[in-house]
Amino acid sequence: MVKDRIVDELRGIVGPDYVLTDPVDLVCYAFDGTFEECRPALVVLPANTAEVSAVVQVAACERLPIVARGMGSGLAAATVPTPESMVLSLTRMNHILEIDQENMMATAEAGVITGDLQAAVEKVGLFYPPDPSSLKQSTLGGNAACDAGGPRCLKYGVTGDYVMGLEVVLADGQVLRTGGKSVKNVTGYDLVHLFIGSEGTLGIITELTVRLIPMPQAKRTALAVFPRLEDASKAVNQILLAGVLPATLELMDDTTIACVEDYLHLDLPLDVEAILLIETDGEESSAQREIEVAARVCGESGAREVRVARTAKESDDLWRGRRAVSPALGRRRPNKLGEDIVVPRSQIPAMIRRIKEIAQTHDLPIVVFGHAGDGNLHPNILFDRRDVAEVHRVEAATADIFRAAVELGGTLTGEHGIGTLKRPFLEMAVGSLAIQVMKEIKRALDPRGILNPGKILAST
Ligand SMILES: Cc1cc2nc3c(=O)[nH]c(=O)nc-3n(C[C@H](O)[C@H](O)[C@H](O)COP(=O)(O)OP(=O)(O)OC[C@H]3O[C@@H](n4cnc5c(N)ncnc54)[C@H](O)[C@@H]3O)c2cc1C
Repeated sequence: MVKDRIVDELRGIVGPDYVLTDPVDLVCYAFDGTFEECRPALVVLPANTAEVSAVVQVAACERLPIVARGMGSGLAAATVPTPESMVLSLTRMNHILEIDQENMMATAEAGVITGDLQAAVEKVGLFYPPDPSSLKQSTLGGNAACDAGGPRCLKYGVTGDYVMGLEVVLADGQVLRTGGKSVKNVTGYDLVHLFIGSEGTLGIITELTVRLIPMPQAKRTALAVFPRLEDASKAVNQILLAGVLPATLELMDDTTIACVEDYLHLDLPLDVEAILLIETDGEESSAQREIEVAARVCGESGAREVRVARTAKESDDLWRGRRAVSPALGRRRPNKLGEDIVVPRSQIPAMIRRIKEIAQTHDLPIVVFGHAGDGNLHPNILFDRRDVAEVHRVEAATADIFRAAVELGGTLTGEHGIGTLKRPFLEMAVGSLAIQVMKEIKRALDPRGILNPGKILAST
């Protein structure tokens, strides 16, 4: 329970309608995209940076923990509050402030929905590439705080590669502006990228300046069907070695294919180990040439069939299956734990083999799909959280998956972040010295430990 005096003070800053304390309202802020949940003590919805700063000053004085929240689509439980904390929702700060065509930059408030920025810049022929599948239900601030990726990252990179400048409210309420529109900038430590991927533990991002690029003229899509997973994986490297850098190179394993086919009846093959979905883009002629090269390479690498879309409608049909993976899995079991491991590309077959063994050992359905071009796989464990024994098996399987990824030279997460779910495994992945350095950074920026405590690092 937060004292009435503090609630009154916060209402004085943001207005009476924008401080929520009713338990019914609080339920809506108890979740993220995982199955973890916890109601916060209150929710505050500021309208601008000055209000965020004033709210943070109150929280700092009262040692009230703050959980910054975009759209709550996070997949690491980093957005799930603790019972004593204040959720600071950025959703009212949803204005695109500038699209600077000359410098190819956009400046926006942190609560802008990613897809809205993309649509706005596309109207003037520009392109903001980061494309988390959640782009219609996640914010720029949340994307920066998680360094979100997506299918297009192979060619275009992740959110952090586009963030040039930030406005951040620090743990004592001071407003830091760092970076900007200079394309090159090595003026002191790179503070912009210190906040990228920091999951709301170092500061509250209130405004971002992001780099844009010219809109690619054309896209081409192909779907390649591989009887052997090993061959699909080798094809990924062969495509890149042939000098083609596709915008996306997505892999779905046999279990994922079966779930999607059962859901949508797209005539996907059920007797193969993998399919690759490949998209090239750029000028008409180069997008076309590259998809032809990729299709030929797939054929030479063991694909039984390669379907190249001839029209935008056919391309959309090929993408339908990949887009439907999440709802398709939801039909199999009531719950899913979506992991996000990364391995060097050459280790994808070994990693998938290990995941299949882990699935057998723990008697759990585990599907594997993901961004094969980046070596970023999403093993999804399907289960029923009401079954306590099954939940224990899920925990054991998760630990085994993380261990396998690290043993194969990879890591725990490529785009979802650590939150609380992967925190117990962080040291295994980065080592104790790195943990010590992270703790020192956290202490320097948040000495009272009020910013999203317990996320990434255990609270002290
Ligand atoms: C169906 C689905 C598909 C997804 N697909 C992808 C994908 O393809 N790629 C991918 O990378 N992720 C994906 N995600 C995960 C999620 O959408 C991303 O992590 C996204 O970046 C979270 O944005 P958000 O606005 O919802 O942030 P939230 O979930 O609200 O917050 C996430 C974290 O960022 C912090 N945070 C939020 N806003 C701020 C801010 N302004 N300042 C400081 N900290 C802040 C929070 O405290 C929390 O730690 C998916 C999720 C779902 C549910």
